[in-house]
Amino acid sequence: MNTEGSSTINSAIQKFLAQNGVQKLEPKAVLFDMDGVLYDSMPFHAKAWKEVADRHGLVSSPADFYMFEGCTGAFTIDTLYQRSFGRYATQEEKEQIYQEKAVLFSQYNDGEAMTGAAEVLEKVSAHGLQRLVVTGSGQKSLIEKLEHTYPGQFTREKMVTAFDVTKGKPDPEPYLMGLKKAGVACNEAFVVENAPMGVKAGVAAHIFTIAVNTGPLPDSVLLEAGAHMLYHSMRDLANDWDNLMSACRDFR
Ligand code: MG
Repeated sequence: MNTEGSSTINSAIQKFLAQNGVQKLEPKAVLFDMDGVLYDSMPFHAKAWKEVADRHGLVSSPADFYMFEGCTGAFTIDTLYQRSFGRYATQEEKEQIYQEKAVLFSQYNDGEAMTGAAEVLEKVSAHGLQRLVVTGSGQKSLIEKLEHTYPGQFTREKMVTAFDVTKGKPDPEPYLMGLKKAGVACNEAFVVENAPMGVKAGVAAHIFTIAVNTGPLPDSVLLEAGAHMLYHSMRDLANDWDNLMSACRDFR
């Protein structure tokens, strides 16, 4: 690692400690977002959303669905209704649109793992840290899917899904629930996120939040959301993992 890299990590940790009034960052668990982090599924979500929005006369751009990523479906639909028709969607409209989007997504989704995510999980395991998934997804049988892609890395008990929380990202609730399920304090975890709303949720939960920009949005969107560190791929994060861990140790 070059000097610039290590000073970036050190200043990110210093910023986190000052923000949260804590003395050290001692990671024991890593809270992983799922879409766009563990799976390369965001292009299919965005494509399904755009098609359904067009079908219903809702004004949208493809980038919108990367900006809304992590929010509940109801929030996304209401935002588009406000923009297009100046009113909120009815409950029936929300259910209809969300259902249509889910059908299209399952047609398009190929279940492809995110490049480099397996390497990150290996690093995290090698350092003895817990691994959790914190996702807004309400897909059934998520654990089976994860077990298939990443054998032995996750358990049903250590997952937060749409069924566990009342508020979606950017609310901190999903990540606070993740800390609870891991049994760790906010300065004993990392969040790994690709979406601006997810980064906001991690930061609001007072967790050191690592953004991995795997999509089309500019880095500035993730940095402005409060990301402490930013990488351009899961492989880059895997390659820097040892440096992150040793920088945390240096602050103790
Ligand atoms: Mg995501």
